[in-house]
Amino acid sequence: MSLCPEAWHEAGDLLVHPPGPESAHPGRQLPLSDLIAAIEALQGQNIGGADPFDGGAASAELAGLALALLQHPSNPASRKTLRTRADARRRELVGDTVTYVVNRNLNTSNICTLRCGFCAFRRDAAEPGAYRLDRAELLVRAAEARQRGATELCLQAALDPEARLQGSHLAWAEALLTDLQQAAPGLHLHAFSPQELLFFAEQDGLPLDTVLRRLQAAGLGSVPGTAAEVLSEPVRRLICPEKLSARAWVTVMLQVHRCGLASTSTLMAGHIESAADRVAHLLTLVALQRWAWQHQRSGFSEFVLLPFIGAAAPAALRRRVGRDQPDATAMLTLTAQARLLLGPWIVHHQPSWVKLTLPVAAEALRWGCDDLGGTLMEEHITTMAGASGGTAQTPEALRQAALALGRPVRQRSTLYGLVAAAVA
Ligand code: SF4
Repeated sequence: MSLCPEAWHEAGDLLVHPPGPESAHPGRQLPLSDLIAAIEALQGQNIGGADPFDGGAASAELAGLALALLQHPSNPASRKTLRTRADARRRELVGDTVTYVVNRNLNTSNICTLRCGFCAFRRDAAEPGAYRLDRAELLVRAAEARQRGATELCLQAALDPEARLQGSHLAWAEALLTDLQQAAPGLHLHAFSPQELLFFAEQDGLPLDTVLRRLQAAGLGSVPGTAAEVLSEPVRRLICPEKLSARAWVTVMLQVHRCGLASTSTLMAGHIESAADRVAHLLTLVALQRWAWQHQRSGFSEFVLLPFIGAAAPAALRRRVGRDQPDATAMLTLTAQARLLLGPWIVHHQPSWVKLTLPVAAEALRWGCDDLGGTLMEEHITTMAGASGGTAQTPEALRQAALALGRPVRQRSTLYGLVAAAVA
């Protein structure tokens, strides 16, 4: 088994299952502002305490309150309350400054061995639209990104069976990181989703810890928290049954954090998931972050809400969802709910301008977000799904989006450190 048995066991404890009807909480009867106050009070008791977030009374209470929050009827008055409280919570936790990162996305290949039910990116090798960027081209793009002021390269790809060097996927990935560092010295390498990491380990027959150690030695700086989709096994069985399970995703993340790497966290929302599935997902992220902090690890650097794009998605899910583009009101509401539920544990929140468009992503800065993500320079995965947000933003466009709201803005590093200059 590529996954560490100890981490697998621990993941079983950390994975929060979707609360059932029996979790109906008296908080359902509370006015929304009182419900939010009850959640914040509980977070205050948990934060930094010695008590493990272990499925005990505190976590059951939080799950009940969280479900009440996410099931609270949505109307203009409740949305105004959510927006105002999430905005205040954001200000309290991270202040007014909006951040962004100058980065380049490199999606090395879309040839994939899996067929996820929401994915418009993947292709079989012989299919029209299939591509695999050769190494020389990748290095040219990396060097160009550095010349254009990027501080980060973000690498994610499909599970390409031919991405191998002398028969090894891991050797291919190590060589890629090494070559990119030579082509673009100093850039942070934010690379390989938990699904890709597990793919390297399983294909090469190696423990995941070995894969992580070798990639770290080759220059891996942090890991994207994608492939999480919704951390609910029933939903995954429907939309991505071939993908790693929710428990496997949690296990990979535990191992990533345990070896000292930070990661982002994501939620793909707005398809078939229920409020209970969203609660399970968000509280699982909380449980993982608490684990990281209790073990003096950095854990998640941010939370990114990824609205489902139906336009070019496989027909079965597209028909079931019945919407090509995200419902902006629903996604802004969820943005605020996520800010309130993730509370002090994950303080940086980012909307996806690729999926929402930049004007809606800018609006999300009033619903609890504090970061506009990256310039990307090129984006393929979401764009091939039919998203209308574009494939690149200039730093100036991101800065203007924040300044138009009267908020200060600064360029950040991948892990929210300072970058010289560019402070408004
Ligand atoms: S989501 Fe990723 S793993 Fe799934 S089919 Fe698409 S590229 Fe492959």
